Amino acid sequence: MSLKVYIDGKLHAKEDAKISVYDHGLLYGDGVFEGIRSYGGKVFRMSAHLDRLWESAKAIWLAIPMSKADVARAIEETLAANSIEDGYIRVVVTRGPGSLGLDPNLCSKPQVIIITDYIALYPEEHYRNGLEIVTVSTMRNHPAALSPRIKSLNYLNNILAKIEGMQAGCVEALMLNHKGEVAECTGDNIFLVRRGELLTPPTNAGILEGITRDAVIELARAAGMAVEEVALTKHDVYVADECFLTGTAAEVIPVVKVDSRIIGDGKPGTITRDLIERFHKLTRE
Ligand code: PMP
Repeated sequence: MSLKVYIDGKLHAKEDAKISVYDHGLLYGDGVFEGIRSYGGKVFRMSAHLDRLWESAKAIWLAIPMSKADVARAIEETLAANSIEDGYIRVVVTRGPGSLGLDPNLCSKPQVIIITDYIALYPEEHYRNGLEIVTVSTMRNHPAALSPRIKSLNYLNNILAKIEGMQAGCVEALMLNHKGEVAECTGDNIFLVRRGELLTPPTNAGILEGITRDAVIELARAAGMAVEEVALTKHDVYVADECFLTGTAAEVIPVVKVDSRIIGDGKPGTITRDLIERFHKLTRE
């Protein structure tokens, strides 16, 4: 049976789930989105994701034509229609069909799209052995030009970095911000462990304020660990005892090599493994 996709109030078979070629989401990347997980039939941090979606929309003057409660209900209904318990949810809000000019006022109505599907995970050995990543030359969008806090439909900045990473044989790539500080990876936030303390770049470093990042900070603090949101350099990464990434799709994943330098002892660290377990408990129990 084909998966059902929600568009503008109706469910369509995946093959028939189509939007206009005049939609400014396609023509200009004018829109916003969220990637969300459901675990055992329960949507993880639904309200945090909806808050971030609404904030992204507000930042680009996009009025979502539904309430948060309506979108939450539509997500639940789409998951149920597809009988998905453990899955990945993509909510997309486009500016809607308009003219060939930029003017968003000529777009008739924002389109709300909800895709629910199965999650494509990183291979298990990446969690067991840790990832190797590289710093790429594509810098993160300047926050004064297009804030990385907006989860917009224009992901070219991240895609260019991803291509560079893949050309170096890595599935993730580290991006620096306009100041040369560590920002984040193409679809994940970054954490370091140094002398037992957790370090991660602050939101004003030009990063997406990840919901997994927030969850890990809460878990770490609840376990009595110190967490500091602080500007980091590549040097901090190279001399860290441990490194890991967080994201909705990746969850918590260890990093053991950055720019050919071995991090710590080259194996996923104790604190990283502890946080992976805590995150697993939080989402599955
Ligand atoms: N940074 C970027 C650029 C992202 O696209 C994402 C989401 N894939 C993240 C960080 C992680 O955010 P979250 O934990 O909310 O998925």
